[in-house]
Amino acid sequence: MRRLSSFLVPRSSFLVRPRPFHEAHEAFNGNGHGRSAKLPTIQGCGVDPSEVSATVESMGAEDAIRWAIGTFHPRLRFAVSFQKTSSVIIDIAHRIQPDAHFFYLDTELLFPETYATRNALAARYGIEFERFAGIALEEQRNRHGANLWRRDPDACCGIRKVEAMREALDGVECWVSGIRRVDSKTRAGAAKFGWDKRFGLWKLNPLADWGDDQVWDHIKEGHVPYNPLHDQGYPSIGCMLCTSAPGVGEEARAGRWAGTDRTECGING
Ligand code: SF4
Repeated sequence: MRRLSSFLVPRSSFLVRPRPFHEAHEAFNGNGHGRSAKLPTIQGCGVDPSEVSATVESMGAEDAIRWAIGTFHPRLRFAVSFQKTSSVIIDIAHRIQPDAHFFYLDTELLFPETYATRNALAARYGIEFERFAGIALEEQRNRHGANLWRRDPDACCGIRKVEAMREALDGVECWVSGIRRVDSKTRAGAAKFGWDKRFGLWKLNPLADWGDDQVWDHIKEGHVPYNPLHDQGYPSIGCMLCTSAPGVGEEARAGRWAGTDRTECGING
């Protein structure tokens, strides 16, 4: 069985000095400490998710993305929402791996500004963002009636986002998300890297420990295209029907499904 250190010296010239891993490695190799031998793998070898997670946690965003690209590309997918964190991640990842694979979930209910941001980023970096979508809106209406988003947002997100996400991640070993701990209380404990049980693959949140200032500094310094809705009071942007500007003092995602206790669409939590 390979040591974790071999996964942390990826195919690129990027070098990391991980802490020793042999103890955990022997533990999940079946030495009677009660761990299951059925653990997630990297490059076909079993690893301990908590050990890998702890090592990646110590990396900065650029190093974490470089490591993930070296370890998983081309079975690595960047999920982008065309919010400010997507702009940062696209800018970093594209510099490291110009043919990195970016995709988005098109609910057909995104803001015009979001589609315009997609186009601006595509033009700036020469990226063709792969589009995944659920059934057509008309078909959803025929099957489930009008205003499903209001009557049953779990079902609506399930159809328009989660199903599309499963399709997008088919055959993928690791996906990348832009979530951050400052987004909301429910994301405060998000790991930078870990095993995503929901979709059965690894997940990297390279900006997990970034604050707003870091995000904006990166965007401004690099003149990176970003969603103009951020300048109009929308710190978090999803579908038009379910996004509003949060009130003063509310957390960034308070405007998502406002007036309900819903906080996530089923992709990140
Ligand atoms: S965010 Fe709203 S409109 Fe968009 S898929 Fe979810 S429930 Fe439907």
